Amino acid sequence: MTLARRHFDALIIGAGGAGLNAALQLANANLRVAVVSKVFPTRSHTVAAQGGVNAALANVQPDNWHWHMFDTVKGSDYLGDQDAIEFMCREAIPTVYELEHNGVPFSRLDNGRIYQRAFGGQSQNFGGAQAARTCAAADRTGHAILHTLYQQNIRARTHFFDEYFAIDLISDDEGAILGALILEMETGEPLLIESKTTLLATGGCGQVFRTTSNAHINTGDGMAMALRAGVPLMDMEFFQFHPTGIAGKGMLITEGVRGEGGYLVNKDGERFMERYAPNAKDLASRDVVSRAIVTEVKEGRGVGPNADHVLLKVDHLGEDIVSKRLPGIRESSKIFAGIDPVVEPIPVFPTAHYVMGGIPTDRYGRVVAPIQKGPEEVVPGLYAAGECACVSVHGANRLGGNSLLDILVFGRAAGQDIIKYLDENPNHRPMSEAGVEKAVARLNRWDKRGEGLSVREVRDEFRKVMEDHAGVFRTDEIMSEGVAKVKEIRAKLADVRLTDHSSVFNTARVEALELENMVDIGMSIVLSALERKESRGAHSRPDYPERDDNNWLKHSLYTLEGDQMDFKPVHTKPLTVEPFPPKPRVY
Ligand SMILES: Cc1cc2nc3c(=O)[nH]c(=O)nc-3n(C[C@H](O)[C@H](O)[C@H](O)COP(=O)(O)OP(=O)(O)OC[C@H]3O[C@@H](n4cnc5c(N)ncnc54)[C@H](O)[C@@H]3O)c2cc1C
Repeated sequence: MTLARRHFDALIIGAGGAGLNAALQLANANLRVAVVSKVFPTRSHTVAAQGGVNAALANVQPDNWHWHMFDTVKGSDYLGDQDAIEFMCREAIPTVYELEHNGVPFSRLDNGRIYQRAFGGQSQNFGGAQAARTCAAADRTGHAILHTLYQQNIRARTHFFDEYFAIDLISDDEGAILGALILEMETGEPLLIESKTTLLATGGCGQVFRTTSNAHINTGDGMAMALRAGVPLMDMEFFQFHPTGIAGKGMLITEGVRGEGGYLVNKDGERFMERYAPNAKDLASRDVVSRAIVTEVKEGRGVGPNADHVLLKVDHLGEDIVSKRLPGIRESSKIFAGIDPVVEPIPVFPTAHYVMGGIPTDRYGRVVAPIQKGPEEVVPGLYAAGECACVSVHGANRLGGNSLLDILVFGRAAGQDIIKYLDENPNHRPMSEAGVEKAVARLNRWDKRGEGLSVREVRDEFRKVMEDHAGVFRTDEIMSEGVAKVKEIRAKLADVRLTDHSSVFNTARVEALELENMVDIGMSIVLSALERKESRGAHSRPDYPERDDNNWLKHSLYTLEGDQMDFKPVHTKPLTVEPFPPKPRVY
């Protein structure tokens, strides 16, 4: 088959906040940059981010980046790398001002400064009074950021491949990355992008769970591509369940609602968070609030005919505040829960939301992994940023408002480092035709339609398995069963039948490729979770209820070949300040 080929200095797979901020650096430096996205760029999932982005601007309460750093290290349950966290919290301030200058329409205080709201896990003075650190554009911050970055990229002449699906990375015998094979979704035609550098910015993988706040596109494709290229995934056991998804549906009700004064109650009308987090209450860290809700329901204090959720009260805030600060939440509640939060409380339950783990990188966005089974080093030509990457700034639990920050800071850092790399490596490496053939074979395998269960049936079964076996509370028994079930599902993929209806829209192969990706990601989650024999952050094991710093203050690494697990040390040394040593984590 003759394959169409294009050549670029930099290929960016993913047009969310991470990909677009990286692309902007490169396009502004007059480099040839291609951005590939399986949906139109402004439909990337960053558009859904509601509450805001953290930066210690001190516009509402006293604040500084060092307090932000402390909160992030504590929020991570001490598993985050402190050098990367310091870098992110310091960079937060210029990053938000850069967004403002690029045109993001932030909400304003009466004095004209950027509006900031309180979010969970934020404190003044290293664990003191509640801070207000989250810069917001009403409850549509991600929308405002994504549209601004897209417009700036159009101005800078970034080359977009909209509605193209990335199938696999191409690597050579030395493990260097040479570009990727992509598929034009409308026509079904493959295209080879040869590139001197490739950045994975493909976002999260929330679709591996049945109930999730994530869109259908969040299938972990970039992480799975990295796995197939021999890169392990780091800390995949740490998956965040956001406390307030709309009960039974999963759509997100932002933490900003509690930041504005909303609170949770059980069937007795009790503000139960006062028992679980006496100081921070409803604004404790997300893992703490999610466990509290699940415990209330398990112990019979749930609400509704099945006593299977709790309520988020907002009505006392009044219509003015809700309409001005939380208009999107009011709309979502009306559409998905059939209630107006100005009048009635919102039924909520934890929903799969955010993956703390991902492709291991340093703070310049360079992917760091064992090459050809050798020692760990920077993979030539490969970068990752955003939710698909693990720097690691979130450790075992991410704080609200720190993900938009992560994607912007490390998207920018990756873009800047690529500029440096291209200066030192101005030429394309020779293309590996064996690498190309391998990627083409992955696509062609789906020309055969299969006789077994349909893609949709297998996907539904898989997502239910993940919900049942890798949820908020995990035990050895539950997870061992989960590993066995994911293995069975993997075996079913060999004979899976392409879903019929989608052939009309030419998406059948894409759905099958996504399912393959999700199953590999699912295995990385259940296996890493089974290995970690402690409770830390979002990983909660009733059979090992304590955090165990002696044995488990380390990052996990999952490798696809042979489903292998390995570990590596946490960077406990910051760049310029004293480290924050592990302490009991109370809110
Ligand atoms: C409902 C919701 C609300 C949130 N609110 C907040 C908040 O208030 N504050 C905060 O800090 N964080 C928030 N988050 C988290 C945050 O929004 C995300 O972590 C972040 O936006 C991810 O950005 P990204 O650039 O990594 O990826 P995304 O924005 O998800 O973009 C991924 C890109 O990759 C592309 N892609 C993926 N696979 C392929 C493929 N195979 N081929 C081609 N393209 C591909 C997609 O098309 C897309 O362009 C929220 C998350 C959700 C779900």
